[in-house]
Amino acid sequence: MKTVAEALAVVLARATLLETERVSLGNARSRVLREDARADRDLPPFDCSAMDGYALRSDEQHEWLELVGEIQAGNRDEIVLRPGECARIFTGAPIPAGANCVLMQEDAEVSGNRLKNPPCGAPTHIRRRGENCALGDLLVPAGRRLRSVDLAVLASCGITQPLVSRRPQVVHFATGNELVDPAQTPVDGQIRDCNSILIASLLAEWGGDLVHQSRLPDELENGVASILAQEGFDLLLLSGGASVGDYDYARPLLEKAGFSVAFHGINLRPGKPLLFATRGRQLAFGLPGNPVSHAVLLRLFLAPLLATMEGADASHSFLQGLVDGSAFQKGNPRESFWPCHADCEEGSYRLRPVPIKSSGDITGITNANALLRIPAGQGLQQDDPAQFLWL
Ligand code: AMP
Ligand code: MG
Repeated sequence: MKTVAEALAVVLARATLLETERVSLGNARSRVLREDARADRDLPPFDCSAMDGYALRSDEQHEWLELVGEIQAGNRDEIVLRPGECARIFTGAPIPAGANCVLMQEDAEVSGNRLKNPPCGAPTHIRRRGENCALGDLLVPAGRRLRSVDLAVLASCGITQPLVSRRPQVVHFATGNELVDPAQTPVDGQIRDCNSILIASLLAEWGGDLVHQSRLPDELENGVASILAQEGFDLLLLSGGASVGDYDYARPLLEKAGFSVAFHGINLRPGKPLLFATRGRQLAFGLPGNPVSHAVLLRLFLAPLLATMEGADASHSFLQGLVDGSAFQKGNPRESFWPCHADCEEGSYRLRPVPIKSSGDITGITNANALLRIPAGQGLQQDDPAQFLWL
């Protein structure tokens, strides 16, 4: 059986880079940038004041300077200071010709239309042209999933239609005769479908476009027809039916719909029955229906797959913490990713496993903010160092 890392490598190797499109800045958050964003001008574009105060020359000989004008931010009037002169200036306003420093207004002594010449040697309070970046500097590299601060940088260099990856198109079917809509009151034998909203919400967070989502009974012929009715998607997710029970149809459903299975089953707890299949450039996961398995598998496989398709860095960023609990003293032959709560205490993360009865226990996961990694065969004791991933 493949390890998580081996299985992920197989998945990522089958991912194809998606086409690009241009979107408005307002729609670009969480999209992956596909061309380097470079400065279209020096920033600041001109020497400007860092303070509200008075622009003057530092080698001024006069004891009192005459105030000859006022320069606001946005002002384009050309003031030229001559010896014995100064100008009122505000933060962001261009420094007038002839001035080489700004006196903070808190330090100014003003009398009528005159300013007392301050002692020299004070800081200049000038932001120099190009001190932030120069024309052509790389500001946001291609491959970045754009955050709000990145959008602000793009805006400041006039990139209002950034080139980004189109969003991966995802189809999801939740399979199981027992599933009902969460708005319904289940009757005997039924349970509410909680995986569909989990997937819809994670896709919204991770940049996938959910183009179709519905529930399917455990039935082969109609299931195949439902899959075949979907066209043009990049990724198909099937929830439930991925293991080897008599009514576990994920594998035959995918095979009858023309997919070839690349692997079925990985050395992971929870989430062992994971199924991965491909049809041309279309990819499919069969996910065991247990909600905790879902949450773990989606974090481990879906997030990096979407990132790879969009041209972003897909590697898992493991952090290091110390186990706070005694849940895993004995090793398990499978590598585990266990819901835990990571808290920073005195400079290091304490990782408290959350009590979960089984991989079907969705109630426990709401108390977790991370997944604790327990290597195959290894036990973990109180205070042992361990890796974790944010959930
Ligand atoms: P399966 O993978 O189909 O064998 O399902 C494993 C367990 O997960 C069963 O107890 C199912 O009832 C449960 N399950 C499957 N799909 C869902 C779902 N969408 N929401 C909640 N529980 C599910
Ligand atoms: Mg089932």
